[in-house]
Amino acid sequence: MEQNNSELHRQIIHFYRVTKHFGGVYALCDLSFDILKNDFVFITGPSGAGKSTLIKLLYLGERMSDGYAIVDGINLSRISRQQIPMLRRRIGVIFQDFKLIANRTVFQNVALVMEVAGFKSRSLIRERVGDLLELVGLSHQADAYPPTLSGGEKQRAAVARAMVGKPKIILADEPTASLDPAASERVLQLLRAAHARGATIIITTHDRDLLSRFDARAIYLEGGRRVDAAGGEAG
Ligand code: ADP
Repeated sequence: MEQNNSELHRQIIHFYRVTKHFGGVYALCDLSFDILKNDFVFITGPSGAGKSTLIKLLYLGERMSDGYAIVDGINLSRISRQQIPMLRRRIGVIFQDFKLIANRTVFQNVALVMEVAGFKSRSLIRERVGDLLELVGLSHQADAYPPTLSGGEKQRAAVARAMVGKPKIILADEPTASLDPAASERVLQLLRAAHARGATIIITTHDRDLLSRFDARAIYLEGGRRVDAAGGEAG
């Protein structure tokens, strides 16, 4: 694959012939793609296509079985267990089922990211978490516990948590699948705002309507392989 220097410089993710199997089940097969800094990209395809697995490989929730992948200059097959937190600090992740900690308040859920990243200043943490909760429209729910929130509010808390560490990359795995249209639109607006601030945004969705409403690039998967928009195998 020929790439000129300026393209390499702008690349933040490079996958080359990546395969992931779980025993005999191939979740991803020979997958190659590039994502540039500040791209806004959808990963799409039917259920079982390998979208979630791809997201997991990117934040090292799972290790790939074969191939070559670079994320923000880090070679995913070479990274040691000790270096994984360094990679994860550069990535914010949003899940369909939110994954908020039920017995911590919204404020504490978001603040935890900064604490884990080693921020010691309580006033800095308070300020930054406060700013993020304001951005996502949850200042009034800072002391609420996640089980008392609506789905849309939970997902906005999850977006605040994903953004608070100022990550270069935000991964969102079906972030709107369990939300109503108005709540979905609000979450997408927040992802657009993160994009406008310079982050690279990667969103998985099986929802073709969502894609049609965006003028964004899409990578199509089917049965773990990359296909073109019409369903044919992509080169
Ligand atoms: P999608 O997110 O597009 O619905 P997934 O990445 O969840 O697809 O799954 C892709 C394929 O890999 C499916 O066949 C799924 O059953 C399989 N798979 C995913 N995770 C595991 C796992 N931990 N163990 C076994 N098979 C898995």
